[in-house]
Amino acid sequence: MTFITRFAPSPTGPLHLGHAYSALLAYDMAVAAGGTFLLRIEDIDQSRARRHWEKQIFDDLRWLGIVWPEPVFRQSDRIDSYRVGLNYLRALGVVYPCICTRRDIQMASSAPQEGGAPAFGPDGTIYPGTCKRHPPTNYDPRAVAFRLDMEKALALLSAPLSFEEAGGGTPETFILDPGYARDGIGDVVLARREMGTSYHLAVVLDDAAQEVTDVVRGKDLFDATYIHIVLQALLGLETPVYHHHRLIRDDSGKRLAKRDDARAIEKYRQEGLTPADIRQRVGL
Ligand code: GLU
Repeated sequence: MTFITRFAPSPTGPLHLGHAYSALLAYDMAVAAGGTFLLRIEDIDQSRARRHWEKQIFDDLRWLGIVWPEPVFRQSDRIDSYRVGLNYLRALGVVYPCICTRRDIQMASSAPQEGGAPAFGPDGTIYPGTCKRHPPTNYDPRAVAFRLDMEKALALLSAPLSFEEAGGGTPETFILDPGYARDGIGDVVLARREMGTSYHLAVVLDDAAQEVTDVVRGKDLFDATYIHIVLQALLGLETPVYHHHRLIRDDSGKRLAKRDDARAIEKYRQEGLTPADIRQRVGL
């Protein structure tokens, strides 16, 4: 059986130990399966993506001993494909425009009649549905966001949706509970304003376009997978097998983030550590 996986960093900062673990794990799995490891640059957020970080990613991964086929997919080159995907979903009637700002959403979801503190899902604050109830008129399609109408999407997809999780060794099936989709995920953004897409739409279209059979990524994205399987079903795409791995934490037990420059691979390289030392540090 073919095994195609990918590592998909965003070039918005240095790769740290958590990235190294994810990339090495995916690479080792591909090698063991006689499959393919792909690199994809997730640079849709052009306000944060930088070419020098991209170059640093290539350098660090090569130094770790990872190789991948060229050319690499760069999300900024795929805007047309995202537009086609979004238009397809709009034609299905499961997307609506949203003019709310972050502040509007915060205010609406913490209003007393909504029951106090805003609820959070895998995509942040759960959208209170303002623009669904009062659709904006006369808007510039580039200046608004587009949201998935989860309720309509679920109604359209009658069969239960599920994915295989193989991160724990023995594969397990996880089924999407429609109640959770409605109340715990809600109407996520599929296209951010002036961007034409969002992480969720892009990742689903890219994994399908690259024929990825196995997605290896951190546990922090486990819940987002439920969004991805809804989009895959709507778009008629296959669902890959998911391997959500443990997260690398710092000495105080906190998850590593982009700003944890202290654990940047580049820093370890300068200090004279070897790729074998990095493997040992992340438990590989
Ligand atoms: N660009 C995402 C990140 O850096 C990757 C998400 C994924 O692997 O699906 O977190």
